[in-house]
Amino acid sequence: MPYCFDIGGTNIRFGMPEGNGDVPVIHSVPTPTHSLAQFVEAISGLIEHEGRGRHNSIAISLTGVVHPETNKVRVANIPAIDGVDIAHELTKKTGLPAVVANDADCLALAEARVGIAKDANNVFAIVLGTGVGGGLVLDGNLVVGRNGATGEWGHGPVVDPTANGIVASIGQFKCGCGQVGCLDTVGGARGLERIHRSLHSDNLASEQIVSMWLDGDINANKTIVVWSEMLAGPLAMIVNLLGPDVVPVGGGLSNASELIALLDEKVRKRCLFPADQPLVLPAKFAKNAGLVGAAQLDVPSIKGVA
Ligand SMILES: [Zn+2]
Repeated sequence: MPYCFDIGGTNIRFGMPEGNGDVPVIHSVPTPTHSLAQFVEAISGLIEHEGRGRHNSIAISLTGVVHPETNKVRVANIPAIDGVDIAHELTKKTGLPAVVANDADCLALAEARVGIAKDANNVFAIVLGTGVGGGLVLDGNLVVGRNGATGEWGHGPVVDPTANGIVASIGQFKCGCGQVGCLDTVGGARGLERIHRSLHSDNLASEQIVSMWLDGDINANKTIVVWSEMLAGPLAMIVNLLGPDVVPVGGGLSNASELIALLDEKVRKRCLFPADQPLVLPAKFAKNAGLVGAAQLDVPSIKGVA
């Protein structure tokens, strides 16, 4: 079993797998964002602290994309490791084989193996966090695909700025990927805030907007309806394309089950063959999916690991 790490732009979280598949967080340390040496030291330090010899590999979930051939990671908010084969660097330092995967891919794997999609054939997991991500598991196996970007439904210019004609255009927003009109700009927490600001000229945090919606606030309701309309069409098309048995949802917005239930209802209405059971559901491991999914990665089979 591996030492598991979940690496974000702010913190590195560390955990060790339990028998039931869960991987509780044991430690959390700040992410060294500008020094590769310090980054490698932080990981190896956590392993030393916990005791070498307890596990025989390292598995990492990362807020970035891993190239399937070069094994180099692309992670814009951690320059220390951007463009680096970090698995190789960690193996050099610790002598342990290491594997690295995208965090949304880890969510998909976690839910497909030990979460709400356990035993399902097709699982398309989505992340509604700061932005929008996704990962695909087919027949129990993670689909990495060309360039390691499979499941990234948050990018591509598809947002309908009228939300299916229910509002005048709120415009389209420039995405960090360089395109305009990506779901990533409207579908996550920052997107929800952006929609609310566009509709009501009001700067509120996503948690406040959701809370006000649950309390029956009219403006917040309009924001949530627009948000759900913008996401539901593209997600229904993906359901038609992939035929997932379940679409687990991770990320901060999945904390509001009512929000995910609304999205589920709208997605199912737009599917070619609407499911009569809920399809889009909060993930079981919404909070530590990175660690749980990392523990499910197959270390020896990963190319480029010493
Ligand atoms: Zn984009």
